[in-house]
Amino acid sequence: MANYQAPKGTQDVLPEVSFTWQWMEKAMRRACALAGYREIRTPVIEHTELFLRGVGDTTDIVQKEMYTFEDKGGRSITLKPEGTAGAVRALIQSGALAGTLPQKAYYLFSPTFRYEKPQAGRLREHHQFGVEVFGAAGPSIDAEIISLAYNLFVGFGVKNLKAQINSIGCPTCRSAYYERLRAFLGSRLDRLCDACRDRFERNPLRILDCKEAGCQAALEGVPEMVDCLCPECAAHFNGLQQSLTALEVPFEINPRIVRGLDYYTRTVFEIVSDQLGAQATVCGGGRYDGLVEQLGGPSMPGIGFGMGMERLYLMLDALGLLPKVPPAIDVFIACVDSTAGLEALKLAKALRAAGIRCDVEHTGRGLKAQFKYAGRMGCRFVCVLGPDELAEGKVVIRDMAAHEEQKVELCHCAGWLMQKQAGLEVEG
Ligand code: ATP
Ligand code: MG
Repeated sequence: MANYQAPKGTQDVLPEVSFTWQWMEKAMRRACALAGYREIRTPVIEHTELFLRGVGDTTDIVQKEMYTFEDKGGRSITLKPEGTAGAVRALIQSGALAGTLPQKAYYLFSPTFRYEKPQAGRLREHHQFGVEVFGAAGPSIDAEIISLAYNLFVGFGVKNLKAQINSIGCPTCRSAYYERLRAFLGSRLDRLCDACRDRFERNPLRILDCKEAGCQAALEGVPEMVDCLCPECAAHFNGLQQSLTALEVPFEINPRIVRGLDYYTRTVFEIVSDQLGAQATVCGGGRYDGLVEQLGGPSMPGIGFGMGMERLYLMLDALGLLPKVPPAIDVFIACVDSTAGLEALKLAKALRAAGIRCDVEHTGRGLKAQFKYAGRMGCRFVCVLGPDELAEGKVVIRDMAAHEEQKVELCHCAGWLMQKQAGLEVEG
């Protein structure tokens, strides 16, 4: 017999823990709904050209990490390596970006594929929560999305987080900065790693966030982009800081944040946790004012972030902030013998119609084993149906916690349980 294993770098979400993921998702949906974001769902596959153009061919994602294949029709197809390009494609294609603006959207548990070396917090298939806003240029929206992400963490109970922000300017002030950066790095080229020497001509900004210790040392005293912004970009960055202060989001300026993707302009930000070791970034995003046009749409500003859901999960787990998983059912309907089978089914139907989470004996085991099962499932109540009960039109309800039993009219069973269980809430 084959012994099948999941592909390296993938993770299953099993029934025992899916509640926890739904709990995170619920908070995300609520935060988005409160700020006027609606969900967008786009395909897992897109034409490869979309990511070549939309993510940028100087990025690690495009150069090393994409899952690209030819389909049976000879087209080059890629599994989504990030969420923005597909969302932009869908909104252009549908005409939404030619309509009422700004357009606000979010995606949730969106499968994201990157061929990376798997390790804690770094998977080949991970899932992202992200938001996108198109058609708003001012810094208030930058602050809004940073505060949305920040407040989610606060809501989960995470303390002492700060948003790290930076501005990488616009194409005009950035090219002037590139010259200063190249002038500074020119005499230090021999101290840079191979990848950074390669970046020197094509994308020198990326040298700033290289993780190699040698490169970081060579950057000592490097001129900073925030000191080289043109007046418009400087005013925007200033407005961002004022808005964040107004929203009471703690932040610090980190000039080394440049983000991996080519399309960013002006605001870039990350939310970093010291609970995650090397894979510290839980959330990263920024402004990409040229992207929509680059992908064939109208010229309009855009901004968004992506949050790695597995990293968030790891962080909340490490901090002990994940909720206890509730039992799958609250009530088990046990049958003394097979004569009660149909009545048990009917009772389950009635309880479910009343919003009570219950299950009925499906395997034909003895009463004792049924009680044991109900105990293992964490059921608060067991309803017992047998020939005597059926003859009387009643059911015995055992309260497992209080070790008490009561005989109740069958037709009153749902009402009785509802009274006992005020506040029962079905997830999902
Ligand atoms: P990193 O620097 O850690 O590689 P990144 O800059 O490539 O991150 P983004 O492209 O901004 O990441 O993706 C948004 C978020 O998705 C990240 O902040 C992180 O939380 C998560 N993420 C990215 N790559 C992975 C991965 N391979 N496995 C799990 N989560 C990931
Ligand atoms: Mg990466």
